[in-house]
Amino acid sequence: MKTFESLNPATGDVIGVFPQTSAKEVDEAVAKANTASEHWASLSFRKRGIILRDWASILTREIESSADLIHRETGKPLSDARLEVSIAIEHIGWAAKYAPKVLSDQSRPSGLLMFNMAAKVQRSPFGVIGIIGPWNYPFFTPIGSIAYALAAGNTVVFKPSEFTPAVGAWLGESWKRIAPFADIFTVVTGGPETGAALTKSKVGKISFTGSTKTGKLVAAACALNMTPALLECGGKDAVLIDRDADLKKAAEVTLWHAMANAGQSCIAAERVYVHRDVAERFSTLIVEQATKIKAGYEDGANYGPATMPSQLKVIKTHIDDAEKRGGRFLFGDKSAVKGNFVSPVILADVPEDSKAIIDETFGPTLIINTVRNMDEAVDLANASNYGLGAAVWSKKNGKRIASLLKCGMVSINSAFSNTAVSSLPFGGIKDSGYGRTHGAEGLLEFTYPRAIIKPRFRIPINFTTFDRSQRADRIVMLLTKILHKRRRR
Ligand code: NAD
Repeated sequence: MKTFESLNPATGDVIGVFPQTSAKEVDEAVAKANTASEHWASLSFRKRGIILRDWASILTREIESSADLIHRETGKPLSDARLEVSIAIEHIGWAAKYAPKVLSDQSRPSGLLMFNMAAKVQRSPFGVIGIIGPWNYPFFTPIGSIAYALAAGNTVVFKPSEFTPAVGAWLGESWKRIAPFADIFTVVTGGPETGAALTKSKVGKISFTGSTKTGKLVAAACALNMTPALLECGGKDAVLIDRDADLKKAAEVTLWHAMANAGQSCIAAERVYVHRDVAERFSTLIVEQATKIKAGYEDGANYGPATMPSQLKVIKTHIDDAEKRGGRFLFGDKSAVKGNFVSPVILADVPEDSKAIIDETFGPTLIINTVRNMDEAVDLANASNYGLGAAVWSKKNGKRIASLLKCGMVSINSAFSNTAVSSLPFGGIKDSGYGRTHGAEGLLEFTYPRAIIKPRFRIPINFTTFDRSQRADRIVMLLTKILHKRRRR
């Protein structure tokens, strides 16, 4: 059996050795999950809900050990890891509680023409959901699919990132302790080949979270089998700061929005568009805040290393390119990338066609560009190929500006909080992907609608026969005219 090691990105220590699951083994796992799916789907929402709550309870009792594992495998601070687990547990509880409400059969009006028919929509699980996860939130992000897919009556085969297999395996082990029978939730570790095998297997749907580049490969592979896919990909989130914003709060939160988790968040702030009347004040305030934070692995560090070493080159290229094209360092400098750690970098006046504005940086860097007004800020924010999240800071105009942004999530006078509000859908548009996790939309995503219709009572006119009478035709015409023919104005 082929294996691979998972390393602590801060120390290089080996966290564990994991199987490189082959395509054949992936197919076997999916086949077993398919068999188990019939039994799992036949359980009531209530029964599945109890099992999911039992799981949430185990995860809650063992927050310290899972947070420690996340801390060691990603390098992020322990307190960030604890927060990640807490929010994920909240999602499990929400999915368990709301699945019956969102997914129970719904009656639909049958209309005047078919008034004798009863119409309803059933939501049916797909069978097996193949979930492919990233490393930046190795617990929270996959749970956003796993919990919702399970609550909706699917079984799951999950491939965690090759950078965080230990957290993925831990999730699988914890499930086994409360699972009523085998193969409801299976974890297959491995690299891109294992992920690719899952996309080609007999899953009912794929839920992928990762880069846009890989997302496109996943979508293409799924298309060959007509396997539906949910894609949660990269982002280049903008923060828009109007002249009436609470600048102190905006500076404090935006710094965290950009640098928390070493900037390795799909919804991290990467670009700020600030109104020219307050640009200088905002820049001064955020730089003041930046002097207080530091990268490191020891207690008291605000964020950890780059979890994936190859990202360091991307971050350096973006900083160098921004400077070469006239960007000014407000904080930090070209030497920010040291070993696996990157110290905070804030740049101003970076041209809109530079790498740091166009591509996802995924590091603790922030660009602050000045705009004449909020219309210009909206245009620049929307010019990105990405459309994941955004934040708006304004006392009076927040809602208006938010409604103009072409993206899936907007925070007004706040950042990131939507991830902890389980009822809100999470996801983006354009290169950020399609489909939604979390909330009612996230539950619906893991089911397909089945339309059901049956007669409530018989009527003397029959439309669905070759024997249809002229009287029936006249009635259809009459009803159509009554319903839809409007007088000319
Ligand atoms: P990645 O695309 O390199 O890998 C993601 C996963 O896909 C991994 O498990 C990997 O093994 C697997 N994979 C790689 N090639 C594959 C293939 N051909 N077929 C199937 N699976 C394959 O992404 P990453 O570096 O792990 O994660 C970081 C990216 O994820 C960033 O772009 C970030 O913005 C994005 N992300 C998005 C969200 C969101 O909800 N939108 C959340 C977290 C992270």
